Amino acid sequence: MTTKIAVLPGDGIGPEIIAEALKVLDCLQAEFGVPIETEQALIGGAAYDATGTPFPAETLELTKKADSILLGAVGGPKWESLEYSVRPERGLLGLRSELDLFVNLRPAILYPQLVAASTIKPEVVSGLDIMILRELTGGIYFGQPRGRRINEKGEREGFNTLIYSESEIRRIAHVGFQIAQKRNKRLCSVDKANVLECTELWREVVIEVGKEYPDVALSHIYVDNAAMQLVRNPKQFDVMLTDNMFGDILSDCAAMLTGSIGMLPSASLDRNGKGMYEPIHGSAPDITGKGVANPIATILSLSMMLRYSLDDAVNADRIEKAVLSALDSGLRTADIYSEGTQKVGTTEMGNAIVSALRKSKQ
Ligand code: NAD
Repeated sequence: MTTKIAVLPGDGIGPEIIAEALKVLDCLQAEFGVPIETEQALIGGAAYDATGTPFPAETLELTKKADSILLGAVGGPKWESLEYSVRPERGLLGLRSELDLFVNLRPAILYPQLVAASTIKPEVVSGLDIMILRELTGGIYFGQPRGRRINEKGEREGFNTLIYSESEIRRIAHVGFQIAQKRNKRLCSVDKANVLECTELWREVVIEVGKEYPDVALSHIYVDNAAMQLVRNPKQFDVMLTDNMFGDILSDCAAMLTGSIGMLPSASLDRNGKGMYEPIHGSAPDITGKGVANPIATILSLSMMLRYSLDDAVNADRIEKAVLSALDSGLRTADIYSEGTQKVGTTEMGNAIVSALRKSKQ
C-alpha cells in the first residue's frame, strides 16, 4: 500500500532542508521500491502570506488524510509583529492539537564523528544515545485558569495552572514503556513530586502503568537533579519520560550535549502512532537562502518516520547508515565543521547522503 506523506516546508531554511529530504524519499522509492506518495501544503508564515492564516483548512485536511507528516520549520522576523493568533507558530500548535499529537520524541545521539562538536568533555558524551519523551498537549502550557490580573494589593500578577488527568499521564506512560522495550529497557520518569501534587500523581500513575511492563526497569528523578545529571553523566539515561514544561527544557539541554541543533530530528505522535516528523531547530533566518543549512536533522526525521510510524526499520537503518557514511567521508556543513574536515553546503550534504544510500544497495 502506498504511504501518503504530507510535506510542509514552512519558512526560512524549511524549503531548503525539505528539498534534500525529498531527494532521500525519491531514492528510497526508486532504489528500494518503497511505495511513497508526497503532497505539499503551506504552513506558518508562508501560509499566512498566501492565505491570511498560518494554518489553512486545506493543510489540516491534507495532514488528516496523510499517513505521516514531514515538516521543515516555521517562523521568522517578517511575521514577528503580527498578532498572536496569526503568527506562524500558531500553525504548528494548531497541527499538534488538531491531530492530538500528545507525545514528542526527541532522541539525543552523539555521532562519533562529531564528538569534537560538543561543548562537553568527550569522555562524558561519546556514545551518547538517549531518548526524551515530552508530553505535548497538556500540562502548564495549556492548563486553565491562566492569565494576568491586578491583585488586591494593586500589583500585577500572572498565573498558570499545572494540570494533568490520570488518562493523559497513562497514555504517555504506555508510549514511554513501549519505546523503552525497543531500546535498552530502562525508563526514567522525571517529576517534582516532592513539591507539586500534579507530578505526585504523575509518579503514581507511571508506577501503576509500569506493572504492565515488568521487563522495563523504572526509575524516578526530580527535575532539578535530572538537569544536573544530564550534564554530569548523561549516558546513565536510556529513555526519559516527562511532562510538557520539564520536557521542553530538558530536551533542549540534551540537544546541546550533541553539539549541533542541525543534527537532531523529532517526532510527535498520536495514540495510533501517526506522527509529524521535523527537525528540532527553527527556521534559522540568519542563514536562510545561503545554502549552508544542515539538512541532516530533517533527513533523520524521515528515518524516525519509517521507524515509528511506518514500521520500516530496515529503511530507517539504511538512512542512518547513509548519514554516517557521508560524515565518515569527512563532509561537514558549517554548523558541524571542525579543522581537518571538508566544509560543504546543504545540497552537497544532501547529495552525499543520497549517493551513500544508493550505494548501500550494491
Ligand atoms: P533556530 O533553531 O531557527 O536557530 C538557532 C541557531 O541555530 C541559528 O544560529 C541558526 O542559524 C542555527 N541553525 C538552526 N538550524 C540549523 C541548521 N539546520 N543548520 C545549521 N544551523 C542551524 O532558532 P531561533 O533563531 O531561535 O528561531 C528562528 C525562528 O524559528 C523563530 O521565528 C522561531 O519562532 C522559529 N522556531 C520554529 C521552530 C519550529 O518550526 N519547530 C522551532 C524553533 C524556533
